Amino acid sequence: MRKVSMKPRNKRTARCLAVVSVAAALSGVTVPAGARPAEGTPGAASLGDRLFPSLGNGGYDARSYDVAFDYRPAVATMAARVTMTAMATQNLSRFSLDSAGQRIRSVTVNGRPAGFRTAGEKLFITPPRSLPDGHPFVTTIQYVADRDANPASPAVKMPQGMAWPWKPWVNAPDGFAVMGQADRSHVIFPSNDHPSDKAVFTFRVTTPADRTAVANGTLVERRTTNGRTTFVYRIDRPIPTDVVQIAVGKFTRTDAVGPFGLPLHSYAPTAQAAKLAPAIARTADQVAWAERTLGLPFPYSTYGILGAPSGYDGVALETPTISTFPAAALAQPDEKESPTQVHELIHQYFGDTVSPRTWDDMWLSEGHAMYYQFRYTSDRGFEPMDQIMKEIYADEAHQRPIVGPPAHMKNAVGVLFDTDAPGALTLYALRQVVGDQTFQRIERTFYTTYRYGSATTQDYIAVANRVSGRNLTGLFDAWLYGAKTPPMPGHPDWTGRQPSPSATPSSAH
Ligand SMILES: [Zn+2]
Repeated sequence: MRKVSMKPRNKRTARCLAVVSVAAALSGVTVPAGARPAEGTPGAASLGDRLFPSLGNGGYDARSYDVAFDYRPAVATMAARVTMTAMATQNLSRFSLDSAGQRIRSVTVNGRPAGFRTAGEKLFITPPRSLPDGHPFVTTIQYVADRDANPASPAVKMPQGMAWPWKPWVNAPDGFAVMGQADRSHVIFPSNDHPSDKAVFTFRVTTPADRTAVANGTLVERRTTNGRTTFVYRIDRPIPTDVVQIAVGKFTRTDAVGPFGLPLHSYAPTAQAAKLAPAIARTADQVAWAERTLGLPFPYSTYGILGAPSGYDGVALETPTISTFPAAALAQPDEKESPTQVHELIHQYFGDTVSPRTWDDMWLSEGHAMYYQFRYTSDRGFEPMDQIMKEIYADEAHQRPIVGPPAHMKNAVGVLFDTDAPGALTLYALRQVVGDQTFQRIERTFYTTYRYGSATTQDYIAVANRVSGRNLTGLFDAWLYGAKTPPMPGHPDWTGRQPSPSATPSSAH
């Protein structure tokens, strides 16, 4: 995620926020004839995340979601359905999904009606018989989604009674978009809403024929019947739930071809299409730059950008294959100097393809996005990397005592908005110590080892130690867990910014 205009402390530190059919899925779901039903126990109703303690559910591993919405203008509710195919990781008598702000109408497990109840932000499901460990099962939930129901996160606490300024359902005059990060995607659809449990997705959105639906992945089907169009998108690489995008609007689509034939499909609100054309046109070159700089092919089979017409105020999100931005921000010329587009593009690799295992690992996502964002600024000749990092260092040294170190932030708000600068500085410090060639090998090895999965801070440190042949644990501990920002290797003169007497507290901590 990246803040793009919310009262940044300065322009440099503007903060970031970015199926199978039932029949096919069921074909693998057979309990051997004559086998006794397993004695099951309830799955855990939490994955024990330090920063989001109620998030996620145990006892199964979600493999795919098929999410369907029926959008009708002027009505805030939508008939909705989600089908989750999951693998049981224990004998399950009962399991839960994260779910909030929805009216659950019915639940089936493996095609049979299942008992269910909601409590807090959990949907507890009791299948007719226990689900055996190691076997897949299919859960279908029919529900009513209410785009006016935007329950606040129980974990993201803003300071001084301030309200979290973004909502998971982002309503617009012609449709909607969604913004689930960090723990709000289960307001959109019931799910195992934690980045450690990634899954592939199919989205089916039915709209009036004059609207366009956009979602992660490739448009695989589009059919119109009686003035209603159903769009089907599929992404066949596992993604975390928090970066799902589903949008409806009056969009103009622009097609282009990126490096090595990568199809690029971008969407602008039709009324603003001309204003967004330059930003859309920059995308192909930015993808080529990212591939060249990282030495890694783009991770998905398609890419593009989506300009959300309204409501996506001041924030961009790394939604896989289709990064989301406020249309107004994409129309700004200073996008060139402070390249949020590149930030979200890098998140396609770090954040979406290699995801944080827990929310304490979020610096791996935000730090990479910010580091390479400023490499781009430097490569394009706007400002030297050393100068940019020196300025970020000054801010970070001032911030850290307030928000905490990047791999152990004081709270969930900090993990979204204050891990990018110290994360980028950590990567810069590593490169200072090991040199550019080794740094690149560490980056590529980490990425190729964990792509399409999730990784921890310790995973990154282990790769760095192994690839460099050195023990860098002390360096990482100081940068990622230290109470104070360590001295920058090679730049002992870098110091923290003195707080100015007139400075007002940032909204981000
Ligand atoms: Zn970001």
